[in-house]
Amino acid sequence: MELSNLVESVLKKDTRFIVITGGVCSSIGKGVLVSSLGVLLKNAGYSVSVVKWDPYLNVDPGTMSPLEHGEVFVTADGAETDLDLGHYERLLGEKLMRDSSVSSGQIFQEILDGERQGEFLGRCIQLVPHVVDAIKKRMLNFACNHDVDFVLVEIGGTIGDIEGKGFLEAIRQIRIDIGSSHIFHGHLSYVPFLEWTGEIKTKPTQHSVNALKREGLVPDCLFLRAAGDIPEKPLQKVFRMCGVNRDFVFQVPTADPIYELFFDLKNQKVCERVQDYFGMSHIKEPDLSGWQKLVSTIKGLKKKVTIALVAKYVGNNDPYISIVEAIKSAGYACNVKTSVIVIDAEKLEERDTQESRESWRLLESVDGVIVPGGFDNRGVNGKILTVSWAREHKIPYLGICLGLQVMLIECARSLVGLKKAHSTECDGNTPDPVIDLLPEQRDIKEKGASMRLGEYACSVVKNTKAYDAYGQDTVFERHRHRYEFNNAYRDAFEQAGVVFSGIYQEKNLVEIAELKDHPFMVGAQFHPEFCSSPLRAHGLFKAFLEAALKK
Ligand code: GLN
Repeated sequence: MELSNLVESVLKKDTRFIVITGGVCSSIGKGVLVSSLGVLLKNAGYSVSVVKWDPYLNVDPGTMSPLEHGEVFVTADGAETDLDLGHYERLLGEKLMRDSSVSSGQIFQEILDGERQGEFLGRCIQLVPHVVDAIKKRMLNFACNHDVDFVLVEIGGTIGDIEGKGFLEAIRQIRIDIGSSHIFHGHLSYVPFLEWTGEIKTKPTQHSVNALKREGLVPDCLFLRAAGDIPEKPLQKVFRMCGVNRDFVFQVPTADPIYELFFDLKNQKVCERVQDYFGMSHIKEPDLSGWQKLVSTIKGLKKKVTIALVAKYVGNNDPYISIVEAIKSAGYACNVKTSVIVIDAEKLEERDTQESRESWRLLESVDGVIVPGGFDNRGVNGKILTVSWAREHKIPYLGICLGLQVMLIECARSLVGLKKAHSTECDGNTPDPVIDLLPEQRDIKEKGASMRLGEYACSVVKNTKAYDAYGQDTVFERHRHRYEFNNAYRDAFEQAGVVFSGIYQEKNLVEIAELKDHPFMVGAQFHPEFCSSPLRAHGLFKAFLEAALKK
């Protein structure tokens, strides 16, 4: 559709955009702020959806290192996306699709593919108008394809980044196209506290707003992120220097649990100010009673369960954020405080080193173990040793994707008697490839977006731990893998006490496996963590945690 037609459709539908940019530095919680705004609006009776714009040139984060970029979140329709989509889904309780994740890489790819097909014959392709128009079209198309009152747009990165300029120009132009009555721009900025002078400093925020002004944008609203309360005097200074109405300057304190931010923003009447801006009447206050109940549960949690993640990436929890969140949520549902420790799988492989002894000591102190998803050989032996130990000592174990595969490799070696069994991902010459490439994966050479991705149906077998956890015959879970259990070994495994409790019927693929004679040793080929949320813990995580509690 032409841009002018898209503009007309959006105005006809009366969709409003709320755009959030970030200033001063990264990691100040833009994703959480955007989700919080969504929670407030949704609970005030509006429908909302979210889009994340990532300025990097990768088409998606699927090929980036999780240590650098955090977890790759997978949508139901199989897009590999930024972890912020996970925050949005968990907090908003809305299922997002691939059009909620846009990168500069996607935009450039679309334009260059078009150029090769002759779409721009005779013309010179330029950042303005072609790239900016493509961004605008995506944004307007999103509004046309989703029947919502509000589209929230988070622009990744920090104001001043060269990569983000195209997106800012798109915002500037869209404001002209649809008018300020349909777009609201909030800027989240960091306000540091200088310990040595005991002062709060607003200058970085002023600079950040100036940088926006240089791009032709004056924010309608400021969200000031600070460790503590910001006194009125610096607030006065900010609104005067930045040219933002005092009623539209809000504070974003550090909240623990983060859900308390919803109450903070509600108390500052953020929802009402947004309604005022758009000339909407205040129909009802955001009803946060569900979240209120959750926060009081969290504050009352006493008993503690410790879960180990035996994994490849150690440093921060971002590579496994959805798993950590799913454990926390299961804890809320089971009324226990949870703590998660990440143990470097490679350390468990070493013999007689100080670090190895320390890692084993840590592992032996926990109540349950999760082996998360992963790729390639690194740390796989440590994960197999972990399964051995958990199986023999009857420690609750939940294997996710690679975690299921290592569980089955260990069972093959110890229970089925296939001493050299392995996955062909790790050992191409194994005589017993119990985990092997999916047939449709064999000829794939490209690395990007080429795995088995997204939601598939899983039939759950009755009278199994999986069925107890789900209480349902069919569930839909999200995938991200190339390898799979090799059905040639199915009978041998079953005879050895392995139960295949979840199957993708259409292709007869193993989705869930579990051990009969064990309190809880369950592995899933999919990623249950992507479908868990604080208000609705996932059955498998809950069942796992209950087993850990019993231990
Ligand atoms: N590397 C394994 C595969 O591709 C597991 C993937 C994962 O854990 N997400 O099948």
